[in-house]
Amino acid sequence: MTPVETPLPPIPERPQYTFFVTLDYAAKSVSVSQTVIYPNDTGETLESLVLAVVPNMWPNCFHLTSLSIDNVSTADYTLSGQRLEVYLPSPLLPQEVVALSIDYTLSLPFAAQADPSQERPRIFGYTERQVNLTNWYPFIVPYLAGQGWILHDPWYYGEHLVYEAADYTVNFRTLNLTEGLVVASSGWLETDGEWKRYTLSAGRAFVFSVSPQFEVDSMQVDNVVLYSYYFPVMQAHRKGGQDVLMVTAQALELFSRRFGPYPHRTLSAVMGDFNDGMEYSAFFFMPRDFYNSSADTPQNYLTFVAAHETAHQWWFEAVASDQALEPWLDESLCNYSERLYYETYYPDLVAWWWPYRMYYYDARAKIDIPVYEGGGFQPYTNATYFRGAHFLEDLRTRIGDDAFFAFLKDYRLQYEGRIATSADFFTVLRQHTDADFSDLLQTYFKNPDR
Ligand SMILES: [Zn+2]
Repeated sequence: MTPVETPLPPIPERPQYTFFVTLDYAAKSVSVSQTVIYPNDTGETLESLVLAVVPNMWPNCFHLTSLSIDNVSTADYTLSGQRLEVYLPSPLLPQEVVALSIDYTLSLPFAAQADPSQERPRIFGYTERQVNLTNWYPFIVPYLAGQGWILHDPWYYGEHLVYEAADYTVNFRTLNLTEGLVVASSGWLETDGEWKRYTLSAGRAFVFSVSPQFEVDSMQVDNVVLYSYYFPVMQAHRKGGQDVLMVTAQALELFSRRFGPYPHRTLSAVMGDFNDGMEYSAFFFMPRDFYNSSADTPQNYLTFVAAHETAHQWWFEAVASDQALEPWLDESLCNYSERLYYETYYPDLVAWWWPYRMYYYDARAKIDIPVYEGGGFQPYTNATYFRGAHFLEDLRTRIGDDAFFAFLKDYRLQYEGRIATSADFFTVLRQHTDADFSDLLQTYFKNPDR
């Protein structure tokens, strides 16, 4: 006889997040029951788990009601600012799996407008016509062997979070269905009804934006359903919403060809009730005021910001990077992707786009700065976006189109679902060219030894 072994559940490829989320839109509160199945693929033994709890940076917002590890309740944790450290009852060995369950409520903050010259607008919270759930759930931050948990301090502009890829099942409901709420999210809607069930595979940041005032247009590009959500306050807004949908469709088609297939089943472009663009998984916000500028020309911010935010689905979403320490990695590629958009669809406008987009340009700036060394919003975007785009243009000219685009496709392929570094970027680049570009590194990089 052969002894029968009880098979262990398979180790998931990525962390698995499951949520039950109830939004009380009128009360601006959210209650959440969340479970994370976390496979330890760090190669090290873990004594604790570190989660980012970004809502806890707002006063009286995040209220933890219960926490358990493998179904056993625990109070062995510390929560300070955005950092939650949960101590495990027994060490988690490499290739072991742990289940963390956490219940909490969120009292959403009013998303007051910050000083736009100093800080990005706040997105998380509510305005008179929108609730935005961004970075709203505790998530286990990346762990790098030899370095530990990666959770950087927030900064006034730019982003500070680093995301592992994870799988999501999000069950979502709103109280008071009579409010006629329209829900935009990162997920594919699997089940409608009182509970809407959304799924997303290998995503970085699952978000919701909810409003009773949204209008939505949609279209399909290959196997991807695109949505454009907007507030139709004026006729110009409706035109802007339709233009965003069209630009996003064009950009998705172009970047799929240039960088490899789009990673998700849906993509939602959402008019934020604030003036900033921001990328999340299968989802991005567009700045409110740009919808007014829409006209019968693609010579405007609405167009190139929609292309830029779409590009983040490759550079941020498919291939992530450390947004705080190496922001140039995704921002320069997305800024340069705007140029690829114009050269493909409106080649006559490339000469307009360069100086118009980079109206603030300081050629002395170095690309490879952490967000904390940006020296202000303008110098920061100049360095990481604008100088970054110039570097990529010079690099492309130096190595040729064939090598440049083969490199980008391969960089995406090799780092799909992972967190790439500058070193990874240059390792893959050198696999596609023998050209000497050391002078470009001297010109653009603080640390040219790459
Ligand atoms: Zn960007």
